[in-house]
Amino acid sequence: MHDVNQHQKYKKCQNINKGRFFYWPLLFIIVAFSIYSTYEPEHYVVVLDPGHGGRDILPKNIYGDKYDPIIGEYRDHFRPGAQNKGITESEEVYKIAEKTAKILELTYTNEGKKKFEILLKKYAPDLKKINWEAHKPIKVHLSRVNNHTEEYISKRVDVNAPYRLYDYPDIYTGEMKKGTISRINSLSPNLVVSLHFTSGRKEKYGALASVITPNFDVYKQAITYVKTKNISKKQKIRRKFFASKYLNWMVTNSSRTHFQWFLCDAWIYFTGYWSKKDGLSPDTKKFRGYRHNMISWQYADKGNWVDIAKNHPDNSSYSINLENFIPEGPFWEREMDIPEKWRREDGKEGYGGDNLYASEELLRYIKKSFILNKVSSKKTAPRILNPYISTWSVPTYLNAISAYLELGFLDNPYDRKRILNNKDEYAEGLAVGIFSLFYSLDIKKIESEKDEPKGEPIDFFRYENYKGKNYFKTVQSGLN
Ligand SMILES: [Zn+2]
Repeated sequence: MHDVNQHQKYKKCQNINKGRFFYWPLLFIIVAFSIYSTYEPEHYVVVLDPGHGGRDILPKNIYGDKYDPIIGEYRDHFRPGAQNKGITESEEVYKIAEKTAKILELTYTNEGKKKFEILLKKYAPDLKKINWEAHKPIKVHLSRVNNHTEEYISKRVDVNAPYRLYDYPDIYTGEMKKGTISRINSLSPNLVVSLHFTSGRKEKYGALASVITPNFDVYKQAITYVKTKNISKKQKIRRKFFASKYLNWMVTNSSRTHFQWFLCDAWIYFTGYWSKKDGLSPDTKKFRGYRHNMISWQYADKGNWVDIAKNHPDNSSYSINLENFIPEGPFWEREMDIPEKWRREDGKEGYGGDNLYASEELLRYIKKSFILNKVSSKKTAPRILNPYISTWSVPTYLNAISAYLELGFLDNPYDRKRILNNKDEYAEGLAVGIFSLFYSLDIKKIESEKDEPKGEPIDFFRYENYKGKNYFKTVQSGLN
């Protein structure tokens, strides 16, 4: 509509203006009005991020992920996601993301808004007619293309190119291309919803879980632990850890305890190196790279950082030893700044910040969708587990609120059934939940149900106005 009007106005201008000098002010007014009338109102940006895609094929140096400019190679093999008896995680989460986007896109038209209101009323029957004028529109993006893996193999040499998390060199030209994390950040989103399935947990009726990462202050405990020679001080730090919400730290395998994995992950977070089992010295054979320099954003080290970093000088942010690691440079300043505390600590869940609140809230909406739509009863609905806590890439390296969700267990019969038959209900819970995180919703509670959504919004305003800048957008400043 705007385009046609603009074009007509422009033609009119040309006609009026032919050879007549004194019409210039009129032309100015009309052009100014055209620009004004095409001004798009500000909107919120949501990225739906279906995990994985791609394939784990050899050799790693062609198909891998986590490209490290220091060695000019991939540090890791490609992570294609879970697969179990005919269900492929990356395909199912993509379908759910697509369906969720379609529901949220209803809010783009007047006809659609009516349908969306009917959906909201299922969860909040007392909802009055929404004044849409007072709501910034929610613009939805997907973080990646669909799999079509077979097609990619026949058509493309680098089958994993559209799915890597980290930046990577083009296989023909060597030119650096953006991976998923950089692509998401370049959209300056307010909220990113990552969708995954997993396996290996014995819950009778299936389960849902959040995936989070703590902030700098939590990891800092590991530095104190390594530095102190005082045994009782070490014990105190360990006791504090087990008294905190982090006692369930993600255990990758049983070779280490929760606390030992915490120490190891803290080493990775700070130095890039794994630690030995006791968490007191580095395992110099296991280096993951400086991950914040393996994506394109404002907080990467500038200039000749590769030349400095490859010598790993002591008393710097490239030190191998946690004992003399110094958090310097734009990334570490970001990590110690207040918005990262908001994103990752305290907040409505008591810890985990807005990231955990957004994640848990969406899981509660999904569970509610299953019950309201009679997919599950209160008894057979999935359990919401304690979050998986580790030094995960996505919630760490996004400047947005990160809701990272495990939507079910591929080896659980109840979850399998829902994954195969109830993707619409997953999507409905997600879409209503996303709306609620921006605008709140007065939820009608199901009797004796403990996992009810709170219906409270996230305070996006404080990020948008931090030190006079929009935190969601500063991630891209100085980049093209
Ligand atoms: Zn996954």
